Amino acid sequence: MTTVRTSVCSVLVIGSGAAGMRAAIAAHEAGAHVTVLGKRPRLDAHTVLAAGGINGALGTRDHDDTWQQHYADTVREGYFLSHPRVVEIMAMESPAAIRELDEWGCEFARTDDGDIDQRFFGAHYYRRTCYAGDFTGRAVLRTVHRRAAEIGVPAVVEDTYVAKLLVADRTCFGALAFDVHTGERTVLLADAVIVCTGGHTRLWRRSSSRRDENFGDGLGLLLEAGVELMDMELVQFHPTGMMWPEEVAGRLITEAVRGEGGLLYNARGERFMERYDRERLELSSRDRVALAIHTEIAEGRGTERGAVLLDISHCGKDFILEKLPRMYRQFIELEMLDITKQPMEVAPTAHYTMGGAVVDPETHATSVAGLYAAGEVCGGLHGANRLGGNSLSETLISGRHAGEAAASFAESDEVIIRSRRAIRDAADELEAMVRPGTELARPLQRRLRNAMWQHCGVVRDETGLKEALAEIEDIRRALPDVDVRPGAEGWSDLAHALDLRGGLLAAEATVRGAMERRETRGAHNRSDHPELDDGLQVNFYTRLDDGEMAILQRPVPAASPELQKILRAAPRVVETAAHLQE
Ligand SMILES: Cc1cc2nc3c(=O)[nH]c(=O)nc-3n(C[C@H](O)[C@H](O)[C@H](O)COP(=O)(O)OP(=O)(O)OC[C@H]3O[C@@H](n4cnc5c(N)ncnc54)[C@H](O)[C@@H]3O)c2cc1C
Repeated sequence: MTTVRTSVCSVLVIGSGAAGMRAAIAAHEAGAHVTVLGKRPRLDAHTVLAAGGINGALGTRDHDDTWQQHYADTVREGYFLSHPRVVEIMAMESPAAIRELDEWGCEFARTDDGDIDQRFFGAHYYRRTCYAGDFTGRAVLRTVHRRAAEIGVPAVVEDTYVAKLLVADRTCFGALAFDVHTGERTVLLADAVIVCTGGHTRLWRRSSSRRDENFGDGLGLLLEAGVELMDMELVQFHPTGMMWPEEVAGRLITEAVRGEGGLLYNARGERFMERYDRERLELSSRDRVALAIHTEIAEGRGTERGAVLLDISHCGKDFILEKLPRMYRQFIELEMLDITKQPMEVAPTAHYTMGGAVVDPETHATSVAGLYAAGEVCGGLHGANRLGGNSLSETLISGRHAGEAAASFAESDEVIIRSRRAIRDAADELEAMVRPGTELARPLQRRLRNAMWQHCGVVRDETGLKEALAEIEDIRRALPDVDVRPGAEGWSDLAHALDLRGGLLAAEATVRGAMERRETRGAHNRSDHPELDDGLQVNFYTRLDDGEMAILQRPVPAASPELQKILRAAPRVVETAAHLQE
């Protein structure tokens, strides 16, 4: 039995990415005593990977841009599955959120007259994406961490894994966590808890997330706590990820390669995009290029490794080094491949979780009292296709709303029951996982990732989804036999086993949602239902009822008459070719 200690705060923030840190700043400013923790080093949250930019209708480049146009672009690109009020809040508030970041010292690129520069991202009507070179996520993350330190938010508790949210009488009163190095357990008692744990795209064999992040464990925690998830089947696949080496399979290859003139070929040397989008070819939309590449590979026209070829070598070394320096370095370092001379092998990669926790649009409260969620872990904003650059805006805005609301809840007269029994049960459950066994978490994770890739990837069908579900069940049966013991790597065995447990829940919610959505819409392709079905302009919700997963269908919340008017009036994006970016 390892040491157990207790720590008390008024607002506990789980996750130190952009959403978590923005929530912590807001809660601290509202007077709460905040604790922020994360399972990775504080400045190494997944947000650090975001490259291309963050959206807000500032109009520094295109003066006619408005939040209303941003609203319309987002709702349309989401195939009308987004919650209108969530989109409205994001579009209205993101200019101020970006200005605030700027005031806090974020190194945004500037226009000649010194204002924040803005560039095109796919499917935006105007240039509204603010950026800091090709490291916007890192710049945003550093800025919110610095700001938090400046105003006195206590330092992030790093390398601390939350194994369970503590809930009694449908009220959340904290979490049980352990140190991944020492195994020390902490019961974190809090008046309100904000979950900012990111998405679940590492559940696919090829993923743009890194190892041990985005395995869906946060989504699993929320489901177990009694929170509903929505639209989990809606997962964005980026068309171009690296194929090998295996450890980095799925690592993103920026869309700028195609934007700067990169051409796609199959293994027969055919420029296959001619068959899928004659006009825009390689500059077609993200979902169409991903589907085209997937089809070429699935129909046997891929390379031996199961990829297609992306070639930019005809553009010349000087041009490539000037426009795509990071890509040049990435391929030299990881594949020993010189992209100025040879084509890259590429295939689609799981990139973004568009569904997630159901929250109130204003407060980001879940249906469990005292429990809030912010950032990629939430559903409602992106519908069936995310606009590039909207997620960083989402992290800041949802983070602020959740932080303020959680601080206010913590100050309220609500009675919080800190159930000793719930704490004991959580501690016993965790303790029971630590024991020798015949299975290892890593190979089971691999099986899960293979099943999700094969049966619930870019293209899905009923038969494959049933196979995925059967595989999930089979892996779940192996869970009690997973070998967990402290070793040279500390308590990572336990973290991997918990990742697997939570990941299985997130995977099941995704597969069940994909089975129910018998249509093709945005990033969700059903080969057995290839058309969009107007009758399925609905959201699918998953929840745990006595441990069994239930799935429900509800209409998309109605837009206010004002928002409907805005949507009718806003012009449509017709030509996106010149707008291609991450
Ligand atoms: C390659 C790449 C490029 C991208 N580019 C862009 C872009 O240009 N523009 C854009 O808008 N978006 C982009 N995105 C998406 C964007 O980066 C993410 O949506 C966003 O950063 C998510 O932030 P977050 O704060 O919600 O979560 P994360 O940054 O994922 O943070 C999650 C936090 O939760 C912690 N955590 C998770 N589980 C637990 C647990 N059980 N216990 C304790 N802690 C836990 C983690 O340690 C981490 O601190 C990109 C994504 C990728 C992969």
